Amino acid sequence: MIVRAKIVVTMDGPPLENGAVAVSEEQIVDVGKFPEISKAYSNEEVVDLGEQVLLPGLINAHCHLDYTCLRGKIPRQKSFTDWIRAINAAKAKLFPADYVRSINEGFAEAKHFGTTTIANLTAFPELVPQIKAPIRTWWFAELIDVRDPSRANELVGLAVAPLKSQEHWGLAPHAPFTASADLYRRCKEIADREDILLATHLAESREEMSMFGDARGPLYEFLKEIGRDVSDCGRSTPLGNFLSAVGRGGLPNRPQAIEVNRPYLVAHLNEITQSDLDLLGKSKPQFQIVHCPRSHEYFGHLPFQFEKLRELGFNICLGTDSLASNEDLSLFAEMRAFQKEFPNVSPEEVLEMVTVKPAHALRHENALGKIRAGFIADIIALPLTRSTAAFEEILAFEKPVSWSLIGGRVLA
Ligand SMILES: [Zn+2]
Repeated sequence: MIVRAKIVVTMDGPPLENGAVAVSEEQIVDVGKFPEISKAYSNEEVVDLGEQVLLPGLINAHCHLDYTCLRGKIPRQKSFTDWIRAINAAKAKLFPADYVRSINEGFAEAKHFGTTTIANLTAFPELVPQIKAPIRTWWFAELIDVRDPSRANELVGLAVAPLKSQEHWGLAPHAPFTASADLYRRCKEIADREDILLATHLAESREEMSMFGDARGPLYEFLKEIGRDVSDCGRSTPLGNFLSAVGRGGLPNRPQAIEVNRPYLVAHLNEITQSDLDLLGKSKPQFQIVHCPRSHEYFGHLPFQFEKLRELGFNICLGTDSLASNEDLSLFAEMRAFQKEFPNVSPEEVLEMVTVKPAHALRHENALGKIRAGFIADIIALPLTRSTAAFEEILAFEKPVSWSLIGGRVLA
């Protein structure tokens, strides 16, 4: 099949006017100007999309489809800890069937907004075999052992069993305040053995900073109340704590430190100090950073240190987070929210944060995120009105995506 459009934004060089992509089975076999492509593949069926722009399908680097059904249900709270209490109360009313429905609805919405790949954290890996994902999905089991850290290994084992048959999967110890160092360590062992990805949340809120930094504040009190061992608090920043407890060095009470020598999809990093930035520069952990602009705005976190993190050479992607702190699963809206925060970043670079960069974070930089021969045919099309500024027009897009290909198959 040859797909022709007025503009092809390949993310692999400048946009092509009157461009075309040749697709065979699930792969892109060629891309170029329409006259050349149609001559080279003259027997192929031509799908002419007319006045549209073709671009790589979008990649959401951090999401929790479990909570799609909580859209609009959790009003903004005074604190991050209050939000945790509110989401826990909402979750107490949900049953497995509600989560299955929620995940399926989330997939439909993500697809509708042009997302063709998603890194989805689920607290219910046992439900995954019941779900047929309509888009390319990295399933991460989100793990929490704060109430019973002695079960760390068992929890990981229970999560791995239903995920192992999935094409792409990983493990996500939730955050250093809910996942023990043993849980992080076990996930890392499994990641080494199975060669899978890891994900976590880090330095998300001010309260996490006062917990690890000063052993006080609402999050500290809440976790102490539910029985968390808080002997790792009052020593360092969340990042410093993470790198020493989970990474190199080790803490006195966590002697078997493990190294952050595997790629980690790290969501947030909102609360970082200058010393954290120095530490990141020095220790160069394999962090693939995910910023969630609208969730960030919902919680009113400190400004995200985009420029400084980028300067240190980190790969920074965008994610929607869940609908318990965001209003929809559109990465177009996420790109616009990012642009509002960082108006100096070019629209092309913003688009990279939902294509090329997350493809790299998922270790698929040679298969996803670009329209290039040999890559997987995950492609979307949007109507064009002003052909002069393709990137601006892509970022401004607000409607559902009407045409997409996933693995070379046209999505209904
Ligand atoms: Zn998250």
